[in-house]
This record gives sequence, structure tokens and C-alpha cells, in this order.
Amino acid sequence: MTIVRTSCFPRAAFLLPAVALLLATPAVTAAETTPDALHQALETKQRIEQRVASQLSRDSSAQHARPAAAAHGAHGTAAAPAHAAPTTALAHGEPAAGAHAAETDVWSRLLAGNRRFASGRTRVRAVMAQRAALVAGQHPEAVVLACADSRVSPELLFDQSLGDLFVVRAAGNVEDPIILGSMEYAVEHLHAKLIVVLGHGSCGAVKAALSGDEMPSPNLVALVDKIRPTVQRLNACFEGAELVERGAKANARHTAIEVMTNSKILREAVEKGHLKIVSGFYDLTTGLVTPLE
Ligand SMILES: [Zn+2]
Repeated sequence: MTIVRTSCFPRAAFLLPAVALLLATPAVTAAETTPDALHQALETKQRIEQRVASQLSRDSSAQHARPAAAAHGAHGTAAAPAHAAPTTALAHGEPAAGAHAAETDVWSRLLAGNRRFASGRTRVRAVMAQRAALVAGQHPEAVVLACADSRVSPELLFDQSLGDLFVVRAAGNVEDPIILGSMEYAVEHLHAKLIVVLGHGSCGAVKAALSGDEMPSPNLVALVDKIRPTVQRLNACFEGAELVERGAKANARHTAIEVMTNSKILREAVEKGHLKIVSGFYDLTTGLVTPLE
């Protein structure tokens, strides 16, 4: 919509003087229809038409060029050279920094980043400069416990960069003592303020847990057994993609509770108001993360 508005404005601005010029042209009345007067009036009209056509042509070109520029911005994370933009540079179409004033907590900022990702307006980053700046230490604001699924990359889908997220991943976004130990390190030593347990659509681990199939190894049995008790009751009520989605959501909620239950350090951090634990669901189709209650 922005493209339409910006391209319409110069067109309208040009047409006003063009119309004024037309009005200022001596009127061709029946009494003045000499060959010279008629010729002069026709020449003036043709000049105006050429100028209008020329302006409309330039407008049309600019309109087609803008989406290309936006697309470049959308892929700038990987393609932009290190000196191309500061770390806070925004891609075309992003609102100014003041527009984010309402995003006062980490979770809101991550969800705003996810909306940028889903709409193809990811930020352009100077990754080389960020890497250098992070050599001395890290201060990630959030921990994300996500599924290991290759389609669910937290830094990408929350539009974050190096040093922003402390990511822990396991198929089915399950917790265990090693996962909890990683989270405790991030909260206790790095002072992360948020833990996000992120489930997702079409999750293979959830499907395996729902299927009831026999797992071919003790390790896979251990993984599926973490999920099955939470999701198997859903088999009686739902089927297909809805069953898997509901299972993934139930599993993410359950893991968030388990994180609190099984870690004294994290539980106390929540009780002291230093930490927030939330769960969310990532939709592969829309690219959007929905907070789970
Ligand atoms: Zn998964």
C-alpha cells in the first residue's frame, strides 16, 4: 500500500500544474478558429499530453523498481556486505524506531521480529561487525527451546542475529537434565530474561508420539516417551493435521511447565521476577509464531 501511495503522490503533484497550464491556454472559441490559433492550441495540448505520458512512464518504472529494492532488503541478512548497513538498519518499509516503543518486553520484541520474518521484511545486518563485537562476551536476552527440525530456525523466524538468542534444540522441543542445564547457564550466568518453548506444525517427533508405532532404538523410545503421555489422549478427538497441531501445542505447553517444575534455578528466577517462561507455536505455512496460553 505504501508503494501505491508514494507513487500516486508525484503523479498527482504533476497533474495539477498540467491542468493549470491547460486552463491558462487561450480558449479556442468559435470566433477565434483561425488556422493559426487552432494550430497553436493543438500544439500546446500535444506538449501537455507528452509531458503527462512521460511522467506516467517514469512513475510506472519507479513503481516496478520498488518491490525489487524491498526484496533485496528481505535477503540482506545473507547478501549485504559488512559495511552496507549499521546493525540497527531497517529494511525498506520498516517503521521508525519510535514505532516499537510499545514493545517493552523481550517476548513482544521477538514476536515483532517474527512478524517481520513472516512478511518478508527482515532487518539488514552487518554480521561481520556483530561477530567482532561479540568476541568479548554474549548477553542474549532470550533462551529458545526449539525442535531440531530444519525448518524451525529460531534466529531466522524471530528475525534475530548473532548474540541475540541462546538456542537449545532437541527433536520435539523436549526438556531433560542436559537441556535444563543449558537453560540454567543462560539464565544464571548470562542473565537471559525469557525462555520460549517453541512447538511447530508438522512436527515429526509429535507425529511419532501420536502414532503409537514401535521405535527402533532405545534413544528414540526415550524421545517419544517424553511426548506421548501429553498428546496420546488427543487421538480420540482429532485427526490429520489438526491432531498434529494440537499435539505440538500441548507438548510445548507441557514442556514449559516441566522446565519450571524440574529446575529450581529457573523456578526461583521466575518467582523473583527475573525470568518469564512462555510457549509458542510456529506455523510453517504462514511463518507466524502464536503465543500459547
Ligand atoms: Zn519438530
